[in-house]
Formats: sequence, structure tokens, C-alpha cells
Amino acid sequence: MDDRYDVVVVGGGAAGLAGAATLARARRTVLVVDAGEPRNAPADGVHNYLGREGTPPAQLMAVGRDEVTGYGGQIVDGRVTAVDRGGTDFVVTVDGGRTVRARRLLVTTGLTDELPEVPGVAERWGRDVLHCPYCHGWEVRDRRIGVLATGPLAAHHAQLWRQWSPHVLLLLHDAAAPDAEEQERLAARGITVVPGPVAALEVADDTLTGVRLASGETVALDAVVVAPRMTARAGLLDSLGLVPVDVEAAGHVVGRQIPADPTGATAVPGVWVAGNVADVFAQVIRAAGAGMLAGAAINGDLVGEDTRDAVTEHRRQREVMFTEAAWEERYQSRPAVWSGRPNPQLVAEAAELTPGRALDVGSGEGADAVWLAERGWTVSAVDISATALARAADHAKAAGGQVAERVEWTHADLLRWSPAEGAYDLVSAQFMHLPPQPRRELFARLADAVAPGGRLLIVGHHPQDLRTTAHRMHYPEMMYTAEQVAADLDPGRFEVLAAQTRPRAAVDPDGRDIVVHDAVLLARRR
Ligand SMILES: Cc1cc2nc3c(=O)[nH]c(=O)nc-3n(C[C@H](O)[C@H](O)[C@H](O)COP(=O)(O)OP(=O)(O)OC[C@H]3O[C@@H](n4cnc5c(N)ncnc54)[C@H](O)[C@@H]3O)c2cc1C
Repeated sequence: MDDRYDVVVVGGGAAGLAGAATLARARRTVLVVDAGEPRNAPADGVHNYLGREGTPPAQLMAVGRDEVTGYGGQIVDGRVTAVDRGGTDFVVTVDGGRTVRARRLLVTTGLTDELPEVPGVAERWGRDVLHCPYCHGWEVRDRRIGVLATGPLAAHHAQLWRQWSPHVLLLLHDAAAPDAEEQERLAARGITVVPGPVAALEVADDTLTGVRLASGETVALDAVVVAPRMTARAGLLDSLGLVPVDVEAAGHVVGRQIPADPTGATAVPGVWVAGNVADVFAQVIRAAGAGMLAGAAINGDLVGEDTRDAVTEHRRQREVMFTEAAWEERYQSRPAVWSGRPNPQLVAEAAELTPGRALDVGSGEGADAVWLAERGWTVSAVDISATALARAADHAKAAGGQVAERVEWTHADLLRWSPAEGAYDLVSAQFMHLPPQPRRELFARLADAVAPGGRLLIVGHHPQDLRTTAHRMHYPEMMYTAEQVAADLDPGRFEVLAAQTRPRAAVDPDGRDIVVHDAVLLARRR
């Protein structure tokens, strides 16, 4: 069990496991806490579950658990004893006092069937005491079925069960006798009404044989049908202000469930419910479907939150990324940020040039400046980071010869710094990515710094790199093409020698071989 999950699912029945599988497949961290008492546990098989007809409930749950864990979801056996707010998270307490935090909650705790207090009913529940014809009707077709009246819908239930067997009795128990119209309907369907309270179920050899009436008379039966009151297991949600509401059928209250929208979202933001806790009539397949839908809705909600957080961070990054502090933090976080090799487009364009005075802006750890100095250039190298400049100076010293003397390192913020006009035979800006306006202003100052006959080399990551898996800052407005840079140059002052998109082999952060593109502008000052 980790400290925090995207989602904690309380209850690992059909709804909970389906929700957890959906979330795990959506690459969410998910924990299911399950007390292991699904409502249909006493039944031999799950019926009306397409594709898994008749599977024993425990087996279906075991398959579901494997599917959840197979996709990375976690399951712990235990009971959640409390859920509370903890800042923007939920704090979930599991029995034993362990706590775990969750960004979202999916509560799928099912319901409690409140059975009539007739001796034998609870003991035979789910075996030969039944409630749902769609779950068990086929299994008791043509058998002797007694519908134990526990409410005003008993006559209706008797008629329903008559669809599965011609041998249906309505055991009035404590209920009032049906009116004349109802009696006629029952008679027309061959359903006999048996008056008098039922004292107990009769069982022999672990099999129901009938019921004993308070009068002492016995009625032979193969199955007894009851209509339990179905109450959501939702006490946990009290602390969050969620309480169950009455559920009616044909104008009569048959249970209580937590209200939610069609996706399972409750009135409390961040809390979803699915399955019987939210829908007392749900069969297993519908509970699983509701869990799946809630899982998808939760993921969608988290995607929304992740996006809002990302926008905040994206804006913050844009605010700070050009500050000295941000660059210092970046350089100080690692012994080397760059490869130590000169940029390939500089090598391609400057290797054959006659050395003179060069300006290298955004010089970083100095690979370009050192490479130029090694070829005899006198280099002015400018960077915002003192740490980078110190490393660069060390590299220059390590290069030996006169390299260190040929480079002058300047600590300056290029957004505010202006080079001497007409002073350099080569001005190189490699991968300077700024917002459009300051970028144009900087490139104009760099153009002014080129001496007559000198070269301006501006290289950037081409915007189409954002379509690849290359590691790039996702600020499209800060990317540029060589043509855009060329368009800002005064053709009267500059002859464009190259305005190209050049492919370059690269390896992405996952180790894939990819092709990236450099925007390369080379111009000669007239
Ligand atoms: C006898 C019987 C037979 C049935 N037969 C069928 C059938 O054949 N076909 C069919 O489609 N439907 C059948 N049903 C209905 C079926 O049981 C429900 O549709 C289904 O169980 C609902 O799934 P659920 O996930 O909502 O709840 P459940 O399956 O009840 O799962 C809820 C889970 O949450 C756990 N839990 C509860 N509280 C906590 C807590 N605080 N902390 C941790 N865990 C908790 C429980 O232990 C349980 O494991 C039958 C029902 C009964 C009673």
C-alpha cells in the first residue's frame, strides 16, 4: 500500500473492480480496499452476466481481481472505517488504523439486504430463499415456490414468479389479504393465497422442504421468495455529508441509496458511487457497467485537474524560465547540462571560415566557444549563468594552448545586453528560444553586431520538432523557422546564404532513434 493514490476504491465487488480496472488501464494509480463480502456470496452462480453465465461469484471476483492487478492496480483485503477530507485529498482509514490519501474516491460498498425475521430465512438466504427471478428463476423453474409477503408488492412478485413456475403460492404472513381485483388476477394465474403468519422454514438434509405456519400447518415448497429492504452500505459517507435517500417501486419504499448523476458523481466533488450503493436494483453486470462508467468519469475529472495544474505550471515556467535564478538552478542541478560537443550547425558553417572575432551568445558550458578558440578565433562568450561560465572557463583551460586567453567570458542577461555594433566576423546564436518580441529584438541586436563581410549564424529547433518525441519545451510561439528569421533581416544589409530546415539524427529520451530538424539561418553582412 502506498501513501497516496489517484483513486481509492472502497469495496471490491463487481462495481469496484470494474471501476478499478478501468482506472488502472487509464494509467491511474488505484487502490481497492475490499472487505470480501459481496452481496451475492451465498449464491452458487452469477446468472444473466453475458459471457460469464453461471460463474460462481467468488470465481468472478477472483478473475476481476487478477484483471485489476494485471494492469497495475493494487488490492488490499480490509475494511475502510472512515473517509475524511484532507486538504484537496481524501484520507481513507483502513481497519487497523492505516491511512492512505486519494485524489478521488469511488465508493462501491454495495447494500445490505434486510431480511424478514422468520427463522430459517437468513440461514437459507441465496440458496433456496430467493429474491430475484432474473438471478434464480430459471434454476427453480416448474418448482414449488412460496412468495413470503413482506410488503404491499407481494402479489405483484407472486405474479412475476409465475412466469417461471405454475406452482406459486402467496404466503400472506403478516400482510393484509389482497383486494377482490387482485385476488381475481392471482386466481386467473393459478396462484393460491395462503393466509396466516409463517412461523419458520422447514429444512431437511440441508434442503428447504417448506414452511411451517403459526397454525402448525406445513406447506411443502422448494423455494421461498422474500423481498428484502435494500439499504445502501453508506455509513462511511456520513462524514462527507452524503446520506442515502429512499428508493420507491410502484409507489412503495423498497430501499435507500446514495443519489448520484448517471456517471456516479455525487453531490460531493471528488466522490463517485457505483453499483448497489447507488442503485439498489443493479444486477452484477449493471454494477460492473456503472463501475466502468464511474472509472472513466473519474479519469476524465482527473485529466481536467491535471490539465489545469499543467497550465499553471506552464505559465509559471514561462514567467521564470529566462531568469538568472532559473538558469542557475538548472546548471547547479547537474554537473553537466550539455554534451560538451560543439553544435553541429556551427561546425558545419564555421569550420572553413578564416578565424577572426566571434560572438557566441548563450554560451552555456562553453563547447562552441572553446571549439572556435581552438581554431584560432577570438571569442566573446556571453551567458546569464555564472555557474555555466565558470564551467566553460574550466573547459577552456583544460583545452590547453592559448584557448583560455582567446575567450572572454561575459556574465550578462541577453534580454538586456547589447553587443558592440559591427564588431564581429561571426555572430553565433545556437538554440536561443525566446518569446517572439524579445527574440526579434535580440536577433536584431545580434545582426547589428556583425562586421561588414561577417556572418550571422542563427540556429534553432524547428517548430516541427514538436511533432516528434524529442525533448522540447512546449512553447510553440518560441520556436521559429529560418525563413522567419531571414524575413526580419534588411536585405540591403544582409545577403541570406542559407535559410534552411536541416534534418539531424537524434535519440529521444526513451532511447528511440529519431530525426529532428534545425532551423538554420546563415547570412553575410554586406
Ligand atoms: C443471493 C443473491 C444472489 C444474486 N444473484 C445474482 C445473479 O445471479 N446475477 C446478478 O446479476 N446479480 C445477482 N445478485 C445481485 C448482485 O449481488 C449485485 O448486483 C452485486 O453484488 C452488486 O455489486 P456491487 O459491486 O455493487 O456490490 P457487492 O458485490 O456487494 O460488493 C461490495 C463489496 O464492498 C465491500 N465493502 C463494503 N463495505 C466496505 C468497507 N467499508 N470497506 C471495504 N469494503 C467494503 C463488501 O465486502 C463487498 O465485497 C444477487 C444478489 C443476492 C443477494
